[in-house]
Amino acid sequence: MKRIIALVDCNNFFVSCERLKNPELRGKAVCVLSNNDGCVVSRSNEAKRLGVAMGAPYFMIKHQFKKVTFLSGNLSYYCEISKRIMDKLLDYTPDVEIYSIDEAFLDLTGLRKTFGCSYEEIIEKIVLDIENEIGIPVSVGMSYSKTLAKLANDKAKNLQKNTPNKRTYKIGFRQIQKELKESLISEVWGIGKNTNALLKKHLIQTAYDFISQEDLWIKKTIGKTGLDLKQELLGNIVNPVDTTKTAPKSISRSESFKEFQVDKNYIQEQLNNHIHKTCKKLRKENLLTGCIQIFLRTKDFQISSLKINLITPTNTEFELINESKQILDKLFYKGTIYRSVGFCATKLTSAKNQQISLFDSDNTLKKQKLSNSWDKLEEKFGKGIIKLGG
Ligand SMILES: [Mg+2]
Repeated sequence: MKRIIALVDCNNFFVSCERLKNPELRGKAVCVLSNNDGCVVSRSNEAKRLGVAMGAPYFMIKHQFKKVTFLSGNLSYYCEISKRIMDKLLDYTPDVEIYSIDEAFLDLTGLRKTFGCSYEEIIEKIVLDIENEIGIPVSVGMSYSKTLAKLANDKAKNLQKNTPNKRTYKIGFRQIQKELKESLISEVWGIGKNTNALLKKHLIQTAYDFISQEDLWIKKTIGKTGLDLKQELLGNIVNPVDTTKTAPKSISRSESFKEFQVDKNYIQEQLNNHIHKTCKKLRKENLLTGCIQIFLRTKDFQISSLKINLITPTNTEFELINESKQILDKLFYKGTIYRSVGFCATKLTSAKNQQISLFDSDNTLKKQKLSNSWDKLEEKFGKGIIKLGG
């Protein structure tokens, strides 16, 4: 069966993050600079149109482009936004491969039934969700392999120059030949300078020229990677979406209270909510946490936090809520006014090789079964159908 692969790529990512923080930058020529303001690493479309080159050293161009706003990069902030985007993608499918800070491949195969719409509608929805919920514009290319999805994404970006609303592009089976004829082999993902020079010598210009070559010749000239590339360009997946690259190192949740709080029960209830969402995610990713941390933030932004290691790694609410009660007892001060509580699960390990501790093997399994049926109930009846008592 053909797989359906999408590449989600943020537009001018660092600039878009800066615009999120400072909306006045919208519509203006903006560039983000690398470490120590060395060179340009991200450009708004306006800056591109003015002719600012990617990688241009700042000291050489700052006088030339007086109308451009140059900003120092803030990588940890971009990572935070990136994580929110990747988390959002994981709401669609667990088959997400984070390829870089602003790009991810998704395997959407079989999701038409789940979402009750076409694949084209699914990727449109992804674009809108990320734009509306996180505020970052993205482009999505979709086809039958990563290589073709990447090509489709480039196409979407190109079309945006004239049609800004064109955020998605699909290369369907019947369009493959035509698309390959229109694409230079040098633009294909994975073709380096040397390979391109070599192919040029043999008068191979377009991706179509390339796939028209005999397998034997490709193998002799470029080797196995060349053969793989040909298959991917034909729409036969060789490199599937690799989710092992995506396994998160930690999962955290935090949210400000609707109103400042002095009530411990209320805080515990919010905490239980965070724990539930975290556990749900752990189960979805087939992970266990071996260490949890709770953050309490006071009205005047003082943070107190406490971390504990768990004897048995887990992904069930019952144990974590019990542990969290004890932590909260230590962190909470009567009379202090609080603004938020946060929960972080770290030391994540695969649930596949879980060792059930001898002390409570029976109990652990029971709790796991209970948690799984909880997920199923929520799937059926919606979030919040069950609440754990405080
Ligand atoms: Mg990008």
